Amino acid sequence: MKILSLGRVLNTLWLASVLILGGLTIIFSKLFVIILVLIFLILGFFITSLKCPKCGRPVYLKGIRNSQKPGDQYWSPFIAKKCIQCGTDLTKAQFEWKPPYPK
Ligand SMILES: [Zn+2]
Repeated sequence: MKILSLGRVLNTLWLASVLILGGLTIIFSKLFVIILVLIFLILGFFITSLKCPKCGRPVYLKGIRNSQKPGDQYWSPFIAKKCIQCGTDLTKAQFEWKPPYPK
């Protein structure tokens, strides 16, 4: 599966879980928040696992353009079309699973 497609699937799952479980929390029981937090942790683990296959930079981690301090970065909800670090075309790159944080 391509990284861009997998990122869109994860974003859609995140949005769907917020809407469905948020609605269930409001209508039925506050205990649905526990399920929502668990889903957020699991999705967060997979989202941070999405990395550039060439250089290993997380695809959701972006640099701030024209920043005063070089190296400033932030987590974006959208994947860039090209890797910021090495320039690999992420629209064609295939997903390979690697642990989100190195040893
Ligand atoms: Zn890269």
